[in-house]
Amino acid sequence: MIDLRSDTVTKPTSAMRQAAFDAEVGDDVYGEDPTVQRLEEVAARMLGKEAALFVTSGTQGNQIAVLTHCNPGDEVLLEANSHLFLYEGASMSALAGVQPRTIQGTRGAMNPEEVRAAIRPEDIHFPETSLICVENTHNKAGGAIVPLGNMQAVYEVAREQQIPVHLDGARLFNASVASGVSLEHYAAQADTVQFCLSKGLGAPMGSVIAGSSDFINKARKWRKRLGGGLRQVGMVAAPGLVALTEMVDRLTEDHEHAQLLAQGLSQMTGLNLEGKVETNIVLVNVAELGKSAEEFLEDLKGIGILAVPFGPATVRFVTNYDVSRDDIESVVERVEQLV
Ligand SMILES: *Cc1c(COP(=O)(O)O)cnc(C)c1O
Repeated sequence: MIDLRSDTVTKPTSAMRQAAFDAEVGDDVYGEDPTVQRLEEVAARMLGKEAALFVTSGTQGNQIAVLTHCNPGDEVLLEANSHLFLYEGASMSALAGVQPRTIQGTRGAMNPEEVRAAIRPEDIHFPETSLICVENTHNKAGGAIVPLGNMQAVYEVAREQQIPVHLDGARLFNASVASGVSLEHYAAQADTVQFCLSKGLGAPMGSVIAGSSDFINKARKWRKRLGGGLRQVGMVAAPGLVALTEMVDRLTEDHEHAQLLAQGLSQMTGLNLEGKVETNIVLVNVAELGKSAEEFLEDLKGIGILAVPFGPATVRFVTNYDVSRDDIESVVERVEQLV
């Protein structure tokens, strides 16, 4: 099977397994795990933030950010197809007691003027707008890179009104490697940032949230409340450190493979790309084949290829560390014979 369902399916590298084996550990709830501390320091430095916190998943990181920034009854502005809105089980409502308010973006980028217009004025009837979330790269928009200039403009609007911005940067490293814009530049357009170690970077689990020391102190308490205070967790922070030191530059390969896949598939009748491919995600529309996404995915499975549905007639392929250039060429050949 060639597994292109997600970049989360990657297995830890042998360097990661060795690092886990060798990791110096302690009880992280007591602040005594040196490997976790190193991971948090390295991550904070890479993002240009004061402090960082190792969390179990991207969803947990995003929700800790919402919980830390907001109070129950507040409103959060976010893009209509953002992960925080679509794919986190409404946890901002269930856990933080806040109301999401969506703004339809263009390839994941919200118009800063629409953001400005959506911020609530002081009025007894209204919730308080207490957080604005941006996502880069944007998953539902097919790994689209939200331009730095757009993030700057949104951040300016937010700062005028003293509203914090949280960046869901689950795949921020993909954006940075593909665009050449540094992580720090992106992270400087938000107060807090979440990124995943367990996607293209290949670690077995974990995400990091970063921000001011004050924010991270409060976030640490929310993590504990959510049951995310872990003990000798250096065992999994160590592979995360390998992800940050050895796995960033190679994301370029995933991006090249995505281009190769997109070129191959787009030449076949009945398959149409949805939007341009900028990073490691390829969205293909199969409507012209007269098939639903689910039907096409069944056909793919029959020829040894896994992908996921991303709409009634949309299929998502994500290139990743465990898929080679040869695999991609083989996918193109097999799909060509299929259609
Ligand atoms: C994957 C993803 C998350 C959530 O990460 P998990 O580790 O799966 O909880 C959040 N935001 C975006 C944009 C993602 O792609």
